[in-house]
Amino acid sequence: MPASSAGVAAQAGRRRTFAVISHPDAGKSTMTEALALHARVIGQAGAVHGKGDRKGVVSDWMAMEQQRGISVTSAALQFEYQGIVINLLDTPGHADFSEDTYRVLTAVDSAVMLLDAAKGLEPQTLKLFEVCRQRAIPVMTFINKWDRPGNDALALMDEIEERIGLKPTPLTWPVGIAGNFHGVIDRRTGVFTRMQRSPGGADLAIEEEMSAEEAAERFGADWVTAGEELELLEMTGADHDQEAFLGAATTPVLFGAAVANLGVRQLLNLLVELAPPPSARPTATGSEQPVDGPFSGFVFKIQANMNRAHRDQVAFMRVCSGRFERGMIVTHAGTGKPFATKYAQQIFGQGRDTIDEAFPGDVVGLVNATTLGIGDTLYAGGAVQYPPLPSFPPEHFAVVRTSDTGAFKRFRRGIEQLDGEGVVQVLRSDQRGDQAPVFAAVGPMQFEVAAYRLEAEFGVKVQLDHLPYEVAARTDAAGREILKAESNVEVMTRVRDDALLAVFPHRWRMRTVAGRHPDLRLDA
Ligand code: GDP
Repeated sequence: MPASSAGVAAQAGRRRTFAVISHPDAGKSTMTEALALHARVIGQAGAVHGKGDRKGVVSDWMAMEQQRGISVTSAALQFEYQGIVINLLDTPGHADFSEDTYRVLTAVDSAVMLLDAAKGLEPQTLKLFEVCRQRAIPVMTFINKWDRPGNDALALMDEIEERIGLKPTPLTWPVGIAGNFHGVIDRRTGVFTRMQRSPGGADLAIEEEMSAEEAAERFGADWVTAGEELELLEMTGADHDQEAFLGAATTPVLFGAAVANLGVRQLLNLLVELAPPPSARPTATGSEQPVDGPFSGFVFKIQANMNRAHRDQVAFMRVCSGRFERGMIVTHAGTGKPFATKYAQQIFGQGRDTIDEAFPGDVVGLVNATTLGIGDTLYAGGAVQYPPLPSFPPEHFAVVRTSDTGAFKRFRRGIEQLDGEGVVQVLRSDQRGDQAPVFAAVGPMQFEVAAYRLEAEFGVKVQLDHLPYEVAARTDAAGREILKAESNVEVMTRVRDDALLAVFPHRWRMRTVAGRHPDLRLDA
């Protein structure tokens, strides 16, 4: 049906699906609130569709996270701005940092790297950025907290370019150092917008365009400095180039302060104007599934309820092509079996409402989808299979045992289940045997979740003994032989894909060993 396929292409074209990558405390939650607040206030003022009232969108979402007590996985927030549907996928941080955090990045079309002006690039940001780089995800940068003392703007640009090799192409440039912020100059139009926190600060910023003459008079030396910095930027060719940005070679940069909604409008406009909409997605067979093809999607996250009383499981699926309609029967690519979506859709962030339809870029929560695993493909129409989600290098390792000898069957079944869902990576160690598999994780929280679920769902109490390893690298059978002669390294088999992982206590230990055996295969 050409009409509906045109409709799907148009719907996909007005989607922007992204995640914020940042270090804890850089202001991700504040920015999430600020974006939604801005979109809502503008939506209400415009009242184009007569339904600007999306009050409570953010707070509902946060409340749900809090109700669960322990936030083990992330969700998606959806809102509209200037006719564009923005899907913001949460990347859990803090203690929740886990493989889930990385996997979210397989479901986005772009990312916003949020930096604290006083701290620049921090460890968790760098790790998340590395995943973006590997997937060639276009990255926009927002320098946050410009309302309080921080680093020099040019120094921050240098830091980005030198440490991660992305060329910063500022779209706006601040007038006034961090902590003494007057507003920004739009580098493409040259227009200066004065920005002030609204009284009380809980609302949109007060923005006013000001002539260069007036700004020069008011801001004196700060205005002159900004002008000199702009000249310098021009000389280094730091201008936005859409192709280079989409090719993940450059990063457009904005300055602001999420807490006062400063620069938030500019970020929304950047998402609308320059961030990529969903596009054709590579399949496992090497072909590409166009967005306007029949429906397809993949599961990037499974969320099991930690509450014993409601043992439901939500599979979060990103729609890749076509129109998803509530109640449609789709095919589970892994088993070829039909999968009914009848009772099964809700997007967090729009409360608990079921949704009637979704388009490429949207995230659908399939409730009680216990037969779905991480990375699974669902489709309607011609068969589609997306590549399995990558496994990310674990940094935490623990042997898991149960002293309950009668429960061994359940123990094994539980571990298989958790492995399938991607809660933890399960490794087999010849030295320890089947009775004592090893859990490997990106974040230690994954262990807690696994242990909790083994007990709650399989009735097996387990004991976890942390192993003194921090780095894993892929090796091969020859590598395993070589490493037998080395101390402080173990080779284990990842059950999911039979990959051989060499695990080391530190990076330097891995380097020493690698240096000693030039033929050794070690892919970190
Ligand atoms: P997250 O851990 O990245 O989600 O960070 P939060 O959004 O919770 O913010 C961490 C702290 O930084 C909170 O106390 C915020 O109020 C504060 N914060 C966030 N954005 C800004 C900002 O633009 N300026 C200032 N001064 N503080 C901010």
